[in-house]
Amino acid sequence: MTVMVPSMTPAAAPLVSPGRQALDSALLQLDQAADRLHLDDGLRTMLATPRRSLTVSVPVRREDGRMDVVQGFRVQHNTTRGPAKGGIRFHPSTDIHEVTALAMWMTWKCALVGIPYGGAKGGVSVDPASLTTRELERVTRRYVNEILPIIGPDKDIPAPDVGTDEQTMAWIMDTYSVNAGYPVPGVVTGKPTTLGGSLGRAGATSRGVQIATLKAMPGSPEGRTVAVQGFGKVGAPAARHLADAGCRVVGVSDVTGAVVNHSGLDVDDLRAWVAETGGVYGYRHADALSHEDLLELDVDVLVPAALEGAITGENASRIRARLIVEGANGPTTPEADRILADAGITVVPDILANAGGVIVSYLEWVQNLQACSWSANEVDTRLRGLMEESFDAVAAMSAERGLSLRQAAHVIGVGRVAEAHRMRGLYP
Ligand code: NAD
Repeated sequence: MTVMVPSMTPAAAPLVSPGRQALDSALLQLDQAADRLHLDDGLRTMLATPRRSLTVSVPVRREDGRMDVVQGFRVQHNTTRGPAKGGIRFHPSTDIHEVTALAMWMTWKCALVGIPYGGAKGGVSVDPASLTTRELERVTRRYVNEILPIIGPDKDIPAPDVGTDEQTMAWIMDTYSVNAGYPVPGVVTGKPTTLGGSLGRAGATSRGVQIATLKAMPGSPEGRTVAVQGFGKVGAPAARHLADAGCRVVGVSDVTGAVVNHSGLDVDDLRAWVAETGGVYGYRHADALSHEDLLELDVDVLVPAALEGAITGENASRIRARLIVEGANGPTTPEADRILADAGITVVPDILANAGGVIVSYLEWVQNLQACSWSANEVDTRLRGLMEESFDAVAAMSAERGLSLRQAAHVIGVGRVAEAHRMRGLYP
């Protein structure tokens, strides 16, 4: 575990962190949307600035008795349309800039799909793989304790992201509830169903990726080839859903490596291999390839479902997929966007393509607030309705104004938040 003391940041750290690059991308996208919406300078500044940013130190007692300190963050970018909402990421390179960018994208995403939330994100700069389960639980509970004053079912509702899962959400719910003195399931979404989690939440982001892919794909999905970067909570079930729709998943990667089988991968068998060995590396029924080559496979659909900045100005001209559906947040840099657009490659942007997760998180929260539970079918019908409606709105805006799908999605998302600001006015 790395001890992150700001004044002692290692000299070898890059001058511009990946998180800072993500924030620069998010700010550029906002600026371009603001131009198209003719927003005034004051409103632009409001939208570019998080309402609340909290940095905390998280001391952790290790198994051997040592104490480490890691940094944690929670950023509430905007709460004009409703309580803040967004995942919590455990990753060694997470910083305040990355968390701010991710919070900003959450704001536009919630507005775009029409759910009454603002945007937030949280993160802890720690590698969960380097911790025992008990250490991970201690990190989680201490981090939650530090951000406790600003979260809550009416204020800010966390959810899983990279490096966190249902178990993390259960610990968050428990820590918050113990402090409140009564159970508060609505403080967090993506919980286990035994604690009030919604049916359909675990695979919701991936189901949304499937719905967005099928909407964007001209013609039948039968036999269309797919590559997935990042075989985690989003990427693995997305591969499953796309295979279910008739596509042939030929390549996948995760942090351990990348594998390809042009006849098609058996997604369930590969998931079983990953569960057994910890990664796709060494999978017997496929050939190994490099991380770079996975992104550059000659496929119909590429689903980046890992981290930000996967497709950049450096590799965009070598991308051969005809359609990119962003399961991850911020996988394509603005420079890459321009190159892909020139090459005629369609990109379904993150704030649309991966919105299925927050849609079902919203449905989970509504069920928690009403103390009821809906069937898997009911949840899926609502998810599908909101995804398809949002996709159609973005496609219509794109056609009407000659914009890319990302530009159109941002005009709609940013425009709705700007309108909410205007209606509420400024206090005092
Ligand atoms: P996860 O931790 O479950 O999975 C991430 C996967 O990416 C892992 O398999 C990891 O090995 C792999 N990975 C990391 N670096 C890689 C690299 N350089 N090359 C290839 N693979 C790499 O995380 P997740 O929840 O699946 O999130 C993935 C992305 O989806 C993130 O951008 C996240 O913000 C976004 N997202 C997640 C959700 C959700 O509900 N979990 C919702 C919306 C968006």
